[in-house]
Amino acid sequence: MRFDVLTLFPDMVEGPLRHSMIGRALEAGHVELGVHDIRAHGLGRHRTVDDAPFGGGSGMVMRVDVLDPAIAAVRRPDSHVVLFEPSGTRFDQRMAERFATLPHLVLVCGHYEGIDARVREHLVDETVSIGDYVLTGGEYAALVVVDATARLLPGVLGNATSASDESFSSSGTLEYPHYTRPREYRGWAVPDILLSGNHGRVDAWRREQARARTEAVRPDLAREKS
Ligand code: SAM
Repeated sequence: MRFDVLTLFPDMVEGPLRHSMIGRALEAGHVELGVHDIRAHGLGRHRTVDDAPFGGGSGMVMRVDVLDPAIAAVRRPDSHVVLFEPSGTRFDQRMAERFATLPHLVLVCGHYEGIDARVREHLVDETVSIGDYVLTGGEYAALVVVDATARLLPGVLGNATSASDESFSSSGTLEYPHYTRPREYRGWAVPDILLSGNHGRVDAWRREQARARTEAVRPDLAREKS
């Protein structure tokens, strides 16, 4: 799968994704990433990308005649183009799973007061938000979407962890609690069952823990499952 991120601040996206498991997946070629400076399509000597809003109001709006060539430069026939907006559809694990089936995701990051509405109306396939708050730009949203999607792709996690057991996966519950060495720390002991060597009982205990935690902290998920 390939991701292309369009941004005014390429370093904000490029740097963080070069680390840890996604960084290794990029190096190994399990995932491809392009980060593109929208300003390369800016207008005139100053590479202008924004202008004052028609009708008045505060802030600057990113121009459609800049974003159109920026998107066209990376778009392929099989691309899915996502624009980040606080008003977009809320990103979640289901959306990450859907994105992970696509060959090419283009992520467009806004800045300033936002983006000329004609970009949403004519140039993208979907608008996405990562939550009900306003960020200064779409770069953090791009990082969230690339990370959550890429880790679902074959080869990215290796054997280190299994995405199918995790919170929000098809199990419908949050994940069970994890413990590692030491067996006891400051009097806080690891549950005996995990040291029993009885895999059947450990599995049953984990399922019950996952169910109870989901009901306690995310009753909405528990209701969805039943
Ligand atoms: N004036 C806009 C509004 O009230 O909806 C907010 C613009 S915000 C300051 C600038 C850019 O940050 C947006 O165009 C979008 O790309 C990105 N952004 C801000 N909050 C976001 C969120 N919750 N999810 C995804 N992107 C977000």
